[in-house]
Amino acid sequence: MRIGDILRQGTFSLSFEFFPPKTPEGEEELFQTIKNLQELKPTFVSVTYGAGGSTRDRTKRVVKRIHQQTDIRTMVHLTCIAHSKEEITQIVEEYKSIGIRNILALRGDRPAGSFNPPEDACTYAYQLVSLIRERFGDWFSIGVASYPEGHPESPNMEWEIKYFKKKVDAGADFSITQMFFDNRYYYQFVELCQKAGINIPIIPGIMPITNFAQVRKFASMCGADIPQHLVEKLEPYVDNPEETLKIGVEFATRQCIELLERGVPGLHFYTLNRSKATLLVYDNIKSYIRREG
Ligand code: FAD
Repeated sequence: MRIGDILRQGTFSLSFEFFPPKTPEGEEELFQTIKNLQELKPTFVSVTYGAGGSTRDRTKRVVKRIHQQTDIRTMVHLTCIAHSKEEITQIVEEYKSIGIRNILALRGDRPAGSFNPPEDACTYAYQLVSLIRERFGDWFSIGVASYPEGHPESPNMEWEIKYFKKKVDAGADFSITQMFFDNRYYYQFVELCQKAGINIPIIPGIMPITNFAQVRKFASMCGADIPQHLVEKLEPYVDNPEETLKIGVEFATRQCIELLERGVPGLHFYTLNRSKATLLVYDNIKSYIRREG
């Protein structure tokens, strides 16, 4: 079943995000992580895609391997910014031919320096959603990204919602948010979406902090605010991975429980290809999750 159909039935979705490793050792580590997380019976797992198309083959190999060697539903990320429409069609066709039914349609970040995309490349994600719908009909369930604190290129939330709605109107079935560390951003975003007539499920993206320096860098790149009280807790332990893990898991646990109590449609964990933190958080929150089967 496609992810959109599962969510439409009101079934809670648990999902994990991975990136395609650069080395055979990294790939074996990833498959160990997948094996560990498989026990949680995820609704789906997803594999990221380099914005410039740099991970095209690696993403495909990992997606194919998960799809063929496990019984986990797989969603592939696809960015459009550096591909011609024909390239996109070819890539999507390849996924269709191996039985993939779920795509996260993204624009991707423009690479630094001079950038010469193909003339007919999609400039925004809504065009990619339209292209996939136009050429593949309803074969795929299409997810899109959303930004509870606003995308760094959006001047305000009005703009954010306006262009998020364009992706939904183009045919997106559901959305996964950028990581956030203050649930109020998520609640406000969902409320703004409802007011704008956006009714697709919006799944919160959760990043359990295991490496403060790394998360701080990601957060500043994507415009996610790390609350001062959390910074103060983590800062003294930048060189202490065990204590960081403890604080990160404790924080993510509280964040997830609060979201679950508000009835979120699912939780999507940014795993960074590791299972430990996600397993610990899941263990703490499992009694709050209503799961079928
Ligand atoms: P868009 O929805 O196109 O929006 C980008 C910006 O343009 C926004 O500010 C929007 O308001 C604005 N905009 C949209 N349409 C218009 C218009 N018509 N006119 C003017 N402005 C407009 N990146 C990767 O490279 N690979 C991945 O695998 C990946 N996975 C991700 C997964 C999730 C869950 C999330 C939240 C992000 C992911 N990203 C990934 C990052 C994403 O590619 C970047 O944030 C990128 O800058 C925006 O992509 P988008 O699809 O949200 O773009």
